[in-house]
Amino acid sequence: MAGQSLKTALEGSLAIPLDDTALVNVDFHLHTTESDGKLSPAELARAVAAAGLDRFAVADHDTLAVYERHTAAFASMRARMVTGVEVSTNTGEREVHILGYGVPPDAPSLHEILCDRTAVRRGRAERIVELLRKAGVPITMDDVGRQAGNGMIGRPHIARALVDVKAARDISDAFDRYLGSGCAAYVPSSATTPAQAIRAINDSGGVSVLAHPTRNNAEELLDDLVRAGLMGIEAYSPSHTEHDTERLRILARKVGLVMSAGTDFHAPTEANPRPGVDVPAEDLAGFLKLIDAAPSRQR
Ligand SMILES: [Zn+2]
Ligand SMILES: [Zn+2]
Repeated sequence: MAGQSLKTALEGSLAIPLDDTALVNVDFHLHTTESDGKLSPAELARAVAAAGLDRFAVADHDTLAVYERHTAAFASMRARMVTGVEVSTNTGEREVHILGYGVPPDAPSLHEILCDRTAVRRGRAERIVELLRKAGVPITMDDVGRQAGNGMIGRPHIARALVDVKAARDISDAFDRYLGSGCAAYVPSSATTPAQAIRAINDSGGVSVLAHPTRNNAEELLDDLVRAGLMGIEAYSPSHTEHDTERLRILARKVGLVMSAGTDFHAPTEANPRPGVDVPAEDLAGFLKLIDAAPSRQR
């Protein structure tokens, strides 16, 4: 796409007029209480509306519950929303998260890898709690359950419980001390491989994207992931340095991946008070084209 056609396509997708150097404010990586976010779907919808995002996706961990049960919360902004999910996978010792966009919430291929996630995640949490108790931390599944509410259980809930019982100063201390890779209560997350997640997302007609590529050095795996069918990379994130973004843009072009953008928003924080990241419209064009052609937009 070049010149006028790119501009026209972007304007169509974003429903806003653009000049040549336009920045768009988007966030394709938001969490709610359906996984380990702190805001309910309704609260997140209000935060998205207040931030005035041009396009966005909720991408909860291993669940599409927002698109099954909470569509009313986002009804007024449905045209700007695309379906999303963040699938937890493991390869060797490394945890890798694969985002899926434009997926139909009832896709059989996805259902297969997501359906037993509730049981798997609960089993993992039980094992972590057992290891913590062995390490002398008096914590129970009830403490963890209280943090998770009705949402999909995850390590951040255990971290918050550790802070509550004063075994850790804050969430990151809980990970450094107990929950992170190599620590006494580390348990790998999943038997799903990145390639299986990519296949399931692509088979459903969705767009597979590598989440936070700088975390766990996931970008090192890029060649394998591309061979498995990966379509995009989260090149824009407030956690990236300018240097990271530039490297990822070059890498994306080199291996033929589209670029997406997301804050991995779990709650308003000092560093990340609201959802949204500014991206040159041109860099998003490939991604928007793919999600606009995905099945969840074809209604
Ligand atoms: Zn993630
Ligand atoms: Zn995330």
